[in-house]
Amino acid sequence: MHIGVDYYPEHWGKERWEIDAQMMKKAGFNVVRLAEFAWAKMEPSEGKYELDWLDEAIKILSGYGIKVILGTPTGSRPPWLARKYPETTAVDITGHRISYGGRKDNCPTSKTYRRLSSRITEVLAEHYAGEKAVIGWQTDNEFACPVCYCGDCEAAWHNHLKSKYRTLNELNRRWGTVFWGHIYSDWEEIPLPRKGQDNPSLSLEHRRFHSLQVVSFQREQVEILRRITPDRFITHNFMGFSPWVDYYDLAGDLDFVSWDCYYNYSSWSERLNNYSLQAAGHDLMRSLKKRNFWIMETSAGPVGNRMFSRNLRPGELRRMGYQTVAHGADGLLWFRWRTSLYGFEQYWHGLLGHDGVPGRRYREASLTSDELQKLSGEIEGSRVKSEVAIFYSYDDRWAFEIQPNFEKFDYVSHLLCYYKALQKEGVNVDFTHLNSSLDGYRLLILPAPYIVREEAVQKLKEFVNKGGILLLTFRSGVKNEDNIPTEKTLPGLFRDLAGVRVEEYEALEGSWKVSYSVTPGVSYSVELDGKIFPCCYTADWVVPENAKVICRYREKHLKDYAAVTVNHLGAGRVYYVGTYFSIDEAYSLLLKKILKGVPLKRYFSAPYGVEVYMREKGSKHYAFILNHNEKKAEVKINNSGFYMDIISGNTVKNKITLPAGEVAVLKF
Ligand SMILES: [Zn+2]
Repeated sequence: MHIGVDYYPEHWGKERWEIDAQMMKKAGFNVVRLAEFAWAKMEPSEGKYELDWLDEAIKILSGYGIKVILGTPTGSRPPWLARKYPETTAVDITGHRISYGGRKDNCPTSKTYRRLSSRITEVLAEHYAGEKAVIGWQTDNEFACPVCYCGDCEAAWHNHLKSKYRTLNELNRRWGTVFWGHIYSDWEEIPLPRKGQDNPSLSLEHRRFHSLQVVSFQREQVEILRRITPDRFITHNFMGFSPWVDYYDLAGDLDFVSWDCYYNYSSWSERLNNYSLQAAGHDLMRSLKKRNFWIMETSAGPVGNRMFSRNLRPGELRRMGYQTVAHGADGLLWFRWRTSLYGFEQYWHGLLGHDGVPGRRYREASLTSDELQKLSGEIEGSRVKSEVAIFYSYDDRWAFEIQPNFEKFDYVSHLLCYYKALQKEGVNVDFTHLNSSLDGYRLLILPAPYIVREEAVQKLKEFVNKGGILLLTFRSGVKNEDNIPTEKTLPGLFRDLAGVRVEEYEALEGSWKVSYSVTPGVSYSVELDGKIFPCCYTADWVVPENAKVICRYREKHLKDYAAVTVNHLGAGRVYYVGTYFSIDEAYSLLLKKILKGVPLKRYFSAPYGVEVYMREKGSKHYAFILNHNEKKAEVKINNSGFYMDIISGNTVKNKITLPAGEVAVLKF
């Protein structure tokens, strides 16, 4: 395994580098990421390159057996560049160039910036082509924003529309520009979306456009790196559920995905839920290329900028390290080595504090590294296999950001309701999209598949006919790819599959607040297995056609309408869930009902707060069991036989008891 830290030798005097490298070696680290924000140090004035300092740092590190991932430094521009080439600075929504002083403030489209980005990438690739210690590249840093409104972007936007729609007649027809009389007679008349009253078709196409600009910006770097250093891997540090770039596209040009995973960023009380969000993030990152991933940055202490977050609890850094590996990580780098004295991230803490003295967090990272290296012989080459997948679509996400449909609706939170219920069932979960193969899945969950194409529905029909189980929720099949509502009765193209029609739908007034207790003022509720659950956000008034009713709404005027149904079709089943539940237990009960009798690989029964995840290699299975609770937990083993905990070396049978925060890896 590759284990290490993100390191900034340029922040410290050279006399410290050797001490750092020794301490890293002692901790068992074998990799660092360097230089992704060091453009100004590499090229202090245009065309004058100074890489001696980086050569020296790499030499010292490699002397201690530490390999290097180099970042292309285009995530932050040198001041001379911003001043000399003002056209490289992004323009904000009001038409003003943003001021220099942060990072990622460049226009992704700017021909000048792309030329300069290609040049520094080429210089680095050529300089380090013969350096064996450099094992791979990270492109730029955390691609996302800004969305730029400069002249270059506007011209590229018009070219994008011309190549997609070919004629203005076609664009006018598909976008329905007859509404408010916005019929375009020249491509140049088409604005960038900024009004908040923009045509939803235009707004969605612009989200796609921004994403494509970022993907093509990265592609220019990737092509240079592949040409000059074909033997090095190329990755990028993604950001989990970040919405700005279609990550399936961005991952397409890379060897593997890495991501920056911070789990102590939000409030204290969310700790138990955070592990689910991070787990889902790992699963999404693995699913982008359906292969193992790396953690390029993760929490090493309190994080923050102007303010800092909670610290990591004893054992948490280790346990969350195991979580990354459980979900398919083959590389793990803590951010950062030592807390910076300078700049905006003074309070984004590293393994070492400002004082540079190794302490508790350093020792825990060292222990984790040591343990994981001992396991690596066993688990190397193992992968996560899932029989369950959740659809995650950037089109749907963007369309819901443009029109949330009802107050406070959040696509990812909705998806996580189902994810958490699956996690409690102890099954591995993939994320997928409709261009991907569905082979090997038994259950597919489509949370609000809003934008839908005919061929996708055909694919899902085949999946169900062959015995697959499909779950659709409210706002299924509402729109076509131009973000135009279907003229079919809802759920539109899904009607035959679901065996229902949605006669009416509504937002639930005053019920948007997701709560873990019954919320006063909730207007609708359902009964599932003898328990009452309030509905929130929305309710579809569902009329079963071929489907059977699982539960109806309990309120009088809805007594003829269903909330949840199942349709038996071919060898499979299709569930339709017409509402949003505010209590997690509702999803658990529903998933239990759906999965009853389905022969999924589930070897363990874990209580609340205990996560079980599986990696496989040939006939060998490695079950990672993580007790996220602050008290001990008992996990029942559903199969007979003996299991070896490859961390402790102990053999267990029938059950395993884990102290608070402890982990085990059972091999069988
Ligand atoms: Zn621009």
